[in-house]
Amino acid sequence: MRCTACRSTAIRERPERTAQSYRRFRCRCGKQFNERSAGVLNKAQYPSDIIALVVLWRLRYKLSLRDLAEIFLIRGFVFTYEAVREWEAKLTPAPGPLPRHFLIRQDGHRCHAGPGHDRRP
Ligand SMILES: [Zn+2]
Repeated sequence: MRCTACRSTAIRERPERTAQSYRRFRCRCGKQFNERSAGVLNKAQYPSDIIALVVLWRLRYKLSLRDLAEIFLIRGFVFTYEAVREWEAKLTPAPGPLPRHFLIRQDGHRCHAGPGHDRRP
């Protein structure tokens, strides 16, 4: 693990943990952080494994945002469907342009670009 401020590995683990039981550290530069500080879920109210499970079920089982909020409410986790939407956005890559080595032919098929690959057969 590295310091989130100076990237040093000269850090010490502190004896106490965060409210969600994440390990805490202090760097020689004075920065204090925990094992989740550098991640996209740093300020999330729930543990990362719960949030990952919500997003996994959303993607794997195609459950609606509201279904997931209801399923986890039964298990004692209170969050809104908007929270599910935010977690999904944070944990899944945004759709972007096709990699540069792909071309879309006029007939709609993908094909590899490069010498000899960008011509129609
Ligand atoms: Zn540091």
